[in-house]
Formats: sequence, structure tokens, C-alpha cells
Amino acid sequence: MGMLPDEVVPVRLMATVWADTSGLHDDLRTREDLDAWLDDVGIERGSRPPSAAELALARRLRDAVRRLAAQVTADERQSPTVDLDTALGDLNDLVTRLPVPQLTFVAGKLQEGSSRGTSPVVTGLARVARESIALLGGPDAAKLRACYAPGCVLYFMKTHPRREWCSVACGNRARAARHYEKIRSTR
Ligand SMILES: [Zn+2]
Repeated sequence: MGMLPDEVVPVRLMATVWADTSGLHDDLRTREDLDAWLDDVGIERGSRPPSAAELALARRLRDAVRRLAAQVTADERQSPTVDLDTALGDLNDLVTRLPVPQLTFVAGKLQEGSSRGTSPVVTGLARVARESIALLGGPDAAKLRACYAPGCVLYFMKTHPRREWCSVACGNRARAARHYEKIRSTR
């Protein structure tokens, strides 16, 4: 299971980059990683494993949503990996790959179908792009937060007025760090 399993899918995608005391980790490094993540978030697809191009697409989407989340939350924790225009472009390009209805004329009859040529993985990622657009550009954006616990690089939805951290573990570490600071400053 990836980080923050209770968050919405765009936030879970952001959380595929996370940190601990040994440094930054990336949960989307290989095609197998992407396969596992798609399972985690319940994106339906065939038995075919994701291609290298689909992995690259997922990573671009992830970097874009993290960049845009940093914009929304005025996050000052780390320097961005992509610029704002690239992030917007990547998200807006991907969402156009959602299947759309198409009318065809076959054997003398009109038939409703959908646009073809998009793999289930790309369709799934395009759905995540659509959810990300709704989150980052809609009213819920006001609830998105960067977690400022020591060393954390995650985002979370402030679903409760008193929630300050992405996880219980981060809350505990942040309190311990404050406590340590207090002891040090009174010496
Ligand atoms: Zn955190």
C-alpha cells in the first residue's frame, strides 16, 4: 500500500514522492511500480502491464500535480521540478485523452461508440488528470495543505479543522521536534 491510502486519488498520486530519514523515495520508478499503484487506487485495466511510455506519462502527471499543489498551497519546502506552464500543459493534454462518444455509420445503421486508440492505463491516468483539475481548480483546493512536519514532502486534504499533519506519525514527529526545541531553548 502506498502512502496516505485514505486520501483522494490525486493526493495519493502526489504522495508517490515521499521522504523519511534516509531521504526522498519515489514509488513510481518502474513499470511494476506503476502497475502496483494502479492496483492500489483501483484503476481497472487489462492484464497487460503498463508500457514504458505509460510510465513516463504517469510520472509527468505526478510531477505536474505536485507542482500545481505547491502553487495552491504556497509550498516553500522544496524547489519545483517542473515549471508552472509545463505542469498546466501536461495536465491539460492528458485530460483530452479521455474517450469521447463517437457516432459511426456501419452496415446502414448509426451506432454510438467511443473514441479508440487509448489504452486502459492512459484512460485511467486521464481520469486522474480530470480529478486533479477538479481538485486543484475547484472549491476543494482551499483544503489542500503541504505537511510541514520535519522532512515531510507530502500533501493532504484538511478534512478536519484541527488537522495539521498528513498522518499521525508526522503529528508525533512534529510534536517531538517542538518539545525538543522547547527543552533546548530553556537550557
Ligand atoms: Zn507529513
